[in-house]
Amino acid sequence: MSYTLIDGKKVADIIRQQIHEDVQEWIARGNRPPRLQAVLIGNDPASKTYVQAKTKACKEVGIESNTAVIPDTISIKELKETISVYNKDDSIDGILLQLPLPAHLHPSKVIETMDFRKDVDGFHPMNVGRLAVGQPTFRSCTPAGILELFRYYSITTKGKNAVVVGASNIVGSPMAIMLSRENESGKATTTLCHKYTRDLTQHIIQADILIVAVGSPNLITGPMVKEGVVVIDVGINRVSDGSAPKGYKITGDCHFESVAEKASLITPVPGGVGPMTVAMLMKNTLLAAKKSIYPEEYL
Ligand code: NAP
Repeated sequence: MSYTLIDGKKVADIIRQQIHEDVQEWIARGNRPPRLQAVLIGNDPASKTYVQAKTKACKEVGIESNTAVIPDTISIKELKETISVYNKDDSIDGILLQLPLPAHLHPSKVIETMDFRKDVDGFHPMNVGRLAVGQPTFRSCTPAGILELFRYYSITTKGKNAVVVGASNIVGSPMAIMLSRENESGKATTTLCHKYTRDLTQHIIQADILIVAVGSPNLITGPMVKEGVVVIDVGINRVSDGSAPKGYKITGDCHFESVAEKASLITPVPGGVGPMTVAMLMKNTLLAAKKSIYPEEYL
């Protein structure tokens, strides 16, 4: 079967261009530029790269940003105090807490400290709860970006079998909520697989739409999927590769060649979901700025 490669970079560029125009219009109406406060704890190179990419994207769309680089020796009490300062600062619209955190800092406890109106990642229990009951909210950026890809490529979800593999709070679980909700981008019969799922293939083979977010290279292979499936590979894995200049290459969770052979549409890694995550963060930050001034208008 010949497949269509889902070009996340192209779609993200279109969305970012639109956000740039919206930000200009927002400023032209007499408002200050939206502002994002990023929090980077420790020296994890991948986290550093992600924060740099996000702050670069901010600059391109006209959002101001600042990054607090904090040593990983910070206590949970000190980190909560830092977040409280950002909560009270009216010049900050969105707070980005780059995950993962060092082991002694429990992400859910820190996230709970954040003002949910500044939670542009959509991780706060208030925002997750609103998502679950179908209320307007900040939606987690990666699954929200995937829905934008569906919109762009006219991939409908209504009545389809959607299978999500991986049940994290930031990708898999909110993705399953979005797909199963009674709204325009949902209405799919949704299965959420996790590491205790018995016989993963038995579920995956039923999928019209397959979303994989585990962090395990080659977890999904061609024989596990059905002909014509739409595949969204969220995984980002560094795999050793002596022929690559850096000694490694980035792959997803799917064995691309064998899965693509049976797919109708599939995302590449890199260049699929990643750019959409960043674009959605920009969108949420602009929304946070608007909501802070017009809370009723931008629900
Ligand atoms: P995570 O927090 O580690 O979650 C992975 C999930 O997969 C967990 O629920 C885990 O269960 C589950 N799992 C582990 N082994 C499994 C198996 N064999 N079968 C089914 N489920 C299994 O990771 P994440 O933050 O969701 O990210 C997942 C991947 O996506 C990573 O590679 C990450 O780098 C990537 N990612 C990409 C983007 C992007 O923009 N492209 C954004 C976010 C994440 P347990 O918790 O019980 O182990």
